[in-house]
Amino acid sequence: MIRPRILVSNDDGIHSPGLSALVEALEPLGEITVVAPDRERSASGHAMSLHRPLRLVEHAPRRFACDGTPTDSVYLGVHHVLAGKRPNLVVSGFNLGSNMGDDITYSGTLAAAFEGTICKIPSIAISLEGSSPWRFEPAQSFARALAKTVLDRGLPPGLLLNVNIPPGSPSSYRITRQGRRRYGEAIEVRKDPRGGSYFWIGGSGKEHEDILGSDCNAVIDDAVISVTPLHLDLTAEKALEPMASWMIEGFRPSPGAKGEPNGVHTLANS
Ligand code: MN
Repeated sequence: MIRPRILVSNDDGIHSPGLSALVEALEPLGEITVVAPDRERSASGHAMSLHRPLRLVEHAPRRFACDGTPTDSVYLGVHHVLAGKRPNLVVSGFNLGSNMGDDITYSGTLAAAFEGTICKIPSIAISLEGSSPWRFEPAQSFARALAKTVLDRGLPPGLLLNVNIPPGSPSSYRITRQGRRRYGEAIEVRKDPRGGSYFWIGGSGKEHEDILGSDCNAVIDDAVISVTPLHLDLTAEKALEPMASWMIEGFRPSPGAKGEPNGVHTLANS
């Protein structure tokens, strides 16, 4: 049997102990290739470097550091490093810090998995709730088991998995929905040595809303692993029908490609 090819990336950088722990966990399942940012790129979102050159440095066989973003790393991994040897799975992590609720669009960890999904490869992002000292064994066991499941079953097109692991030794998981939590709105204003102001944004305090079935409730309140299926199609399906009756002055609604009024394609007829 051909060993599956697994592309691993992250946003904490190639030297993160979380990345090494993830590679160690997945190694029994297939041939691992790492393409990861050469430094910390947390909260870089789905940014892509279109206006500057990118470099890849091979630290060891199949271990590449990229001086771009997590998205650049996966892009180069799929289309250059593994060109003609398409990976069967992309896994991003282990991020040192959870990515739940409103973290998702800021997260470089998730963006690496988004990019894998755009390349039509089953993709998983895995993040750890908690703080140093990190214990990787429970996350390693779950990552290996989940990756095996996804390699066996595949994922529906356009769908990725966002996994968050609570501290301790969780032995159960829950399929969850994206919750809600915000960083504080605090801005620290300080002075630099020349008298100019500078700003630190993104407070450390994070409060989550109590949403039944959410990732935050599972991981923070109930200490179980959350597995949230996400898709990149951000269309608000529920808004299509109500917005079809909008009248925007001076313009007329155009019928959709299939002749539906205002171009509305509901799930039922798409
Ligand atoms: Mn990170």
